[in-house]
Amino acid sequence: MNQLKIQDYLFQNISALNGVGLKTKKLLKRKNIEKISDLLWNLPQDFTDRSNLQTLDKLEIGKITTIKVKVLKHYFPRIRNLPNKVSCEDKSGKIDIVFFNSREGYIRKILPINSHVVISGKINYFKKKYQITNPAYVVPAIKEDYVNKIIPRYSLTEGLTEKIYRKIIEQVLKNIADFKEWHSNEILKKIGNASWSESIFQIHESKKTDINSKYYRRLAYDEILANLLVLSQVRQRIKKLKKDRKNFDNNLAKKIIDKFDFQLTKSQVKTIDEINNDLKSDSKMFRLLQGDVGSGKTIVSLVAAVNVISSNNQVALMAPTEILAKQHYNLAKELFKNTGINIDFLASKIDAKEKKNILKKLTSGKTNFIIGTHALIQKNINFKNLGLIIIDEQHKFGVKQRIELSHKGGKNCDILLMSATPIPRTLMLSAYGDMDVSKLVEKPINRKDIITLSKPEEKISEILEFVKKQIDSGNQIFWVCPLIEESKKTNYSAAVEKYKFLSKKFINKVGLIHGNLNKEEKDNVLHKFMNKNFKILVSTTVIEVGIDFPNANIIVIENSNKFGLSQLHQLRGRVGRGINQGTCILLYKKNLSDNAKKRIKILKSSNDGFFIAEEDMKLRGFGDVLGYQQSGIKDFKLADPIHHEDLFYLAEKNIKDIEQNIENFKKFNFILKLFDKADIINQINLEQINQD
Ligand code: ADP
Ligand code: MG
Repeated sequence: MNQLKIQDYLFQNISALNGVGLKTKKLLKRKNIEKISDLLWNLPQDFTDRSNLQTLDKLEIGKITTIKVKVLKHYFPRIRNLPNKVSCEDKSGKIDIVFFNSREGYIRKILPINSHVVISGKINYFKKKYQITNPAYVVPAIKEDYVNKIIPRYSLTEGLTEKIYRKIIEQVLKNIADFKEWHSNEILKKIGNASWSESIFQIHESKKTDINSKYYRRLAYDEILANLLVLSQVRQRIKKLKKDRKNFDNNLAKKIIDKFDFQLTKSQVKTIDEINNDLKSDSKMFRLLQGDVGSGKTIVSLVAAVNVISSNNQVALMAPTEILAKQHYNLAKELFKNTGINIDFLASKIDAKEKKNILKKLTSGKTNFIIGTHALIQKNINFKNLGLIIIDEQHKFGVKQRIELSHKGGKNCDILLMSATPIPRTLMLSAYGDMDVSKLVEKPINRKDIITLSKPEEKISEILEFVKKQIDSGNQIFWVCPLIEESKKTNYSAAVEKYKFLSKKFINKVGLIHGNLNKEEKDNVLHKFMNKNFKILVSTTVIEVGIDFPNANIIVIENSNKFGLSQLHQLRGRVGRGINQGTCILLYKKNLSDNAKKRIKILKSSNDGFFIAEEDMKLRGFGDVLGYQQSGIKDFKLADPIHHEDLFYLAEKNIKDIEQNIENFKKFNFILKLFDKADIINQINLEQINQD
């Protein structure tokens, strides 16, 4: 086949292959195999050694063995539950081949009397005779080479046998044998000089699929590059989107900044500059503001909001939870007092009449600044002139959603995303390569590192002692209980119990919040906590993201071994946000697993979110780390950021060269398709056409 034919071939439906009928097609679909190329990524899990043909006097019970025998006699008992049997021999002995669920005609066909055959399967011993039951292979003796060897073992589904699957995958491997290279010699050399076809062949046929072999690495590199290419294309296309420049002076922003009782950090000043430049330019802004918990992202975004409002545009700020949205709303109202800026709040639970009113004010342009939850990006919302969307804690969005968002805002809408989820360096480009990134690298001065302690639950009396002292000296405390796993997501019984328990010890000093309270109840509790009406706030993880209570400096996390590292770091970030010393106490049940011990040790040793994210990735594998699930980077079929770190950096460099010339991209169209990335590109193409 020539190059194009091979490409077309690979993207055909698997039913184009010999031996794939309706039934097999259905079975393959269960393994997510629909087009021929999908077969390439279903890698062998292991290998079965069927080499070393044995004579019948040297059989070992329980061992998978290949034999060459002559067929002597058929037994078809015609009694229910009794298996069909074929007796065979070689020069050294006899053996029975036993078949459950195989029909007589089929057995006669594959094992005709007096024929010489090669059979492979597990040896067992029954009534003083060797047997092979339901052998994996029965072939004519001339086809010995097909069976007498080391054979890859794939993870298959019931009904799909190795024999059938081998026929399918071997056809494919044969057809892609010589395929032209797309990498330059220079790059090829760096990744081990293995051609694509050879690499595919080797990871399917060699004895072990080694993630660090040059063949595997070569294919992983293709995948990493495909990923970066997509993001690069998205970035280039978004950069081309033109908008009206925003005109504003800094007067109003200055006034607001003067209201802070602190100095902006250098990082904050720099970031505000970067954002202002984007706002004033005639290309759409698509910027990510990254900063560890407590680095002061909110303030930066509010300054951006003020500037956009000064330029006579509306601003929307969206947060993942209602609590957080409400907190931003309260802060904005406080800061923007007496500025003439009209602020509104929108969440899904607001009553219909009020909502209608809010929407009307947005459409007419009376509202300058709307803050809320996902409710903000619903279809029925029309802005008069939306100039900026800010999204807090954005790690819940993937590339596709970001593209959608960039179009939803309309032609003149800039986008600012904020995230506290530290992405390990390796993954930064794969996750956010489509955006410009500003980083808050320093924490506000005067900010002390949080002290992290761990205690077994039995020592709760010591904790209560400590808590009492803290309350007496004016501190407030978060007390976090995990949701109970066995039941539904909303099971907050542990928090309720702890609330009752603590209320007895600290009378009138304890509040409770969890996801099942309605909006007013939640607001009420938070409001009271903010006003110091009570001292301890018992909660489920609803407080995890973003919330800011400068007077709460202690956080107790129960059953801390139930949380992942990054989640614990986020929770811990709720305290130590003011000038006071923050303390995080991790309570745990006895008999910690090694892994849980490691997590606690890491947290105690560091307050650095990036370090913690890297460690988290090592402990759990990158796919599970908080926040990556939806970001699209979990979708690697082969690449692994821990084992292939160097390849990520290499791809990062390579992509810069490729970007120099758009023609370069064409060379890689094939790998985009191969790794299912072509759809995303098509999606932006379409949307761009719609916009034009
Ligand atoms: P995050 O980056 O986690 O969203 P926030 O924006 O909520 O952090 O800020 C955390 C706390 O730090 C807030 O109480 C905020 O008022 C305060 N803060 C922000 N910037 C500074 C600064 N430059 N100096 C001192 N405190 C600051
Ligand atoms: Mg925040």
